[in-house]
Amino acid sequence: MARKMLIAGNWKMNGLMADGVALATEIKTAVKSKKRTCEFLVCPPFTLLTSVKKALRGVKVALGAQDCHFNEKGAHTGDVSPLMLVDAGCSYVILGHSERRADHGESNELVCQKAEAANKAGLKTVICIGETLEQRDAGKTIDVCSKQVMGSVPEGATAQNTVIAYEPVWAIGTGKTPTAQDVEDVHAAVRKVLAKKLGKAQANKMRILYGGSVKPSNAKEFLSLPDVDGALIGGASLKSVDFMAIADNAGC
Ligand code: PEP
Repeated sequence: MARKMLIAGNWKMNGLMADGVALATEIKTAVKSKKRTCEFLVCPPFTLLTSVKKALRGVKVALGAQDCHFNEKGAHTGDVSPLMLVDAGCSYVILGHSERRADHGESNELVCQKAEAANKAGLKTVICIGETLEQRDAGKTIDVCSKQVMGSVPEGATAQNTVIAYEPVWAIGTGKTPTAQDVEDVHAAVRKVLAKKLGKAQANKMRILYGGSVKPSNAKEFLSLPDVDGALIGGASLKSVDFMAIADNAGC
């Protein structure tokens, strides 16, 4: 089953208007410079969504947000609804990133509720999972990730509306990475859990990204693994040269 590689940038809480527009413009030029076989996604902060959307006009780079509320509207100060993201030009939203799970106490149940609402509004979700170093050292990686998949992925998820991102918490922004074999083992295990939850057909078609200190020099190693269908990139997505080199080195 051919799954189209997804190269996704998570800009996190970085960039003022001029920076975001400049980065998007550079990505647009680089994406257009040759025939591409992968799908590109950039996820800027909320404040940059509409201007990045404008800067990306005319090129196939999807726009995503980094979180949403599960309600359509109402008294939720500081939150943004899935419909508002669609209105701003988004087609994706990242949910359950470990920084949100840690900083905002987001549970699997909440992530699942958000994912259902996002899908209902027409957004595709990138649902993040991953173990802490403590959990890894205790040999619980597959158990933790399986529980996160079971709890965070909604019943109605399909390969069309859902992407999973495996991001070991200890590898995010640290320069440390698991071995390629570790990544493949977790991805294969996650696909098995998805098959149990959503059926084999959806599981075989669903993309599972790897995230955690992906950079141009290790992109090929991770992105050539059979169950790795792309990357969710933090730090390296803030430099267009590095972001595009990851795609180039992965052959897409
Ligand atoms: C992330 O936060 O999603 C991430 C993978 O960050 P980094 O690439 O900087 O490790």
